[in-house]
Amino acid sequence: MSIKTEETELKCAVCGEASPQTVVTEFDPDTSVPDLDMRPDEPHRSYIKYWVSKCPCCGYCNASIDIPAAFTKEYLESGSYNRFGDSLAGKFRKMALVCEKNKVYEEALKACLYAAWVHDDLNEAEEAADCRRAAIKIYDAHKAVLSENHDIVLLSADIMRRSGGFERVIREYKGKVFGSGLINAIAAFEVSLAEKGDDSCHKADEVPGVVLR
Ligand SMILES: [Zn+2]
Repeated sequence: MSIKTEETELKCAVCGEASPQTVVTEFDPDTSVPDLDMRPDEPHRSYIKYWVSKCPCCGYCNASIDIPAAFTKEYLESGSYNRFGDSLAGKFRKMALVCEKNKVYEEALKACLYAAWVHDDLNEAEEAADCRRAAIKIYDAHKAVLSENHDIVLLSADIMRRSGGFERVIREYKGKVFGSGLINAIAAFEVSLAEKGDDSCHKADEVPGVVLR
């Protein structure tokens, strides 16, 4: 067993229609070393397709369609929502919009990152960078809330670097002291990569001086 899923009827929190949805009921814990942005390795990377669901009636996309929404279904008919299609990456981008409307900004930022991961796997570098820039836009728009979580501040350094924001990483993270030695070490590693103009994927166990387990 790596993962178990089942089909279940869920009622959409926006339009009220029930539809069959695939939900994860069990999965083996991920013991591999993640990328710096916490992207899991296989087989868990393949499971991200289960991290977003879509209501076939109104198009509501979220981690689960029964999560209450702070808007009506008219929003889901708007051009700004539907400019993203129904590919897996598109559904994550819609989920990001929904989460921002629902004022769950960490989820909104991460949904953009998940969309980037989908493009990463398809070798669509420009689309992936666009998703990462959208994540940083959310970070900037809600910085007062999001910067309270050091994990998100650190994650944002990787998202900036992976989308070419080297100067910003150097400006905002060089010499910055966090409350944890681990976060300090990872932030310093991000700065050193940014100084080299390196926008590629790196693993968490490459950070100098850090023993992960
Ligand atoms: Zn619906």
